[in-house]
Amino acid sequence: MNIPQNSLKIEFEQYQDEYEKKAIEVLRSGWYITGGELEAFEREWADYTGAKYCVGLASGLDALWIAVKMLGIGKGDEVIVQANTYIATVMGVTINNATPIFVEPDSHYGIDVNKIEEAITERTKAILVVHLYGIPCDMTALCDICKRHNLKLIEDCAQSHGAMFDGKMTGTFGNIGCFSFYPTKNLGAFGDGGCIITDDVKIYEETKIYRNYGSEKRYYNKVVGANSRLDEIQAGLLRVKLSHLNEIKAYRTSIADRYSRGINNPEINLPMLRDKGDSAWHQYVILCKNRDKLQKYLKEKGIGTIIHYPIPPHLSEAYQYLGYKQGDFPIAEGFANELLSLPMYNGLSEKEVDYVIKVINDFRL
Ligand SMILES: *Cc1c(COP(=O)(O)O)cnc(C)c1O
Repeated sequence: MNIPQNSLKIEFEQYQDEYEKKAIEVLRSGWYITGGELEAFEREWADYTGAKYCVGLASGLDALWIAVKMLGIGKGDEVIVQANTYIATVMGVTINNATPIFVEPDSHYGIDVNKIEEAITERTKAILVVHLYGIPCDMTALCDICKRHNLKLIEDCAQSHGAMFDGKMTGTFGNIGCFSFYPTKNLGAFGDGGCIITDDVKIYEETKIYRNYGSEKRYYNKVVGANSRLDEIQAGLLRVKLSHLNEIKAYRTSIADRYSRGINNPEINLPMLRDKGDSAWHQYVILCKNRDKLQKYLKEKGIGTIIHYPIPPHLSEAYQYLGYKQGDFPIAEGFANELLSLPMYNGLSEKEVDYVIKVINDFRL
């Protein structure tokens, strides 16, 4: 059997007719940037998440740095961010010339809420949390810490579309929720895309102006803005996918449950949910002390896997200037050495999942 870690083609084929119909509809409309599809998607995504407002943007990274900027954070300010994330989270901070302060993750891959307060200084302006792999962070504790220390809360929901914590959707706990619609994400477009959601009307209005060269009225520019718009084709295709997002989440959950019930190799640690939260199951991530041997073994058996992510941001060449070294965040570094993402996509069959389970259970260190 040959099983890729992910297949955008198979995911596309799940709803192919609807996507093709929508793409042709938008192409034939003669209107491609900031139109009715975007407006409708923004309304539908806000309603789905339970937020008041949504602003479509050009990418998840844009959502992050524009969110940080809209909260007035810049040079001299510190933003607390978990040490085990995709580097875009950190770039959302540093693009604004603010300083990321890393905090170790807990055993659910979210920020360790018990290690945040020792990282807070008089320069701390916000906490930027990541619901990594689709598992929500401990939002009860985070909201409490932010309230007590008067900090802004930003959520990187690039991997957590539709994930719930304590009956609420990720992205609606903080001041701003940031989403990516990169094709591999659970709510993925067919190109780049992103958005923010918020309940704050001022942030909503300012972001809408900012994304369009700082202009509300054509050729009248209020501020120096950016070009970061979610185009009509992407918005239209996202509307199609959004109409199936509950199904997509249920499908991924059934795959994850099957893995969790089936894998019983003592060399493997399985992902754990929090008491009050589920997961969007963007990835199903296992830990293994000899991860590289396991990955090679799975590859020989035709099973694709990916490491999300092999180098934590503080050790990345891009962030050498921050002055961190190996050993500064041992938990995040340990995860980077031991984690492996198993095949997970909409359309992966039960037979294939069972094959992966059997092969993993036969693995010996
Ligand atoms: C994908 C991702 C991003 C960046 O999104 P883009 O749309 O690729 O810019 C940011 N944060 C996390 C956690 C991601 O997984």
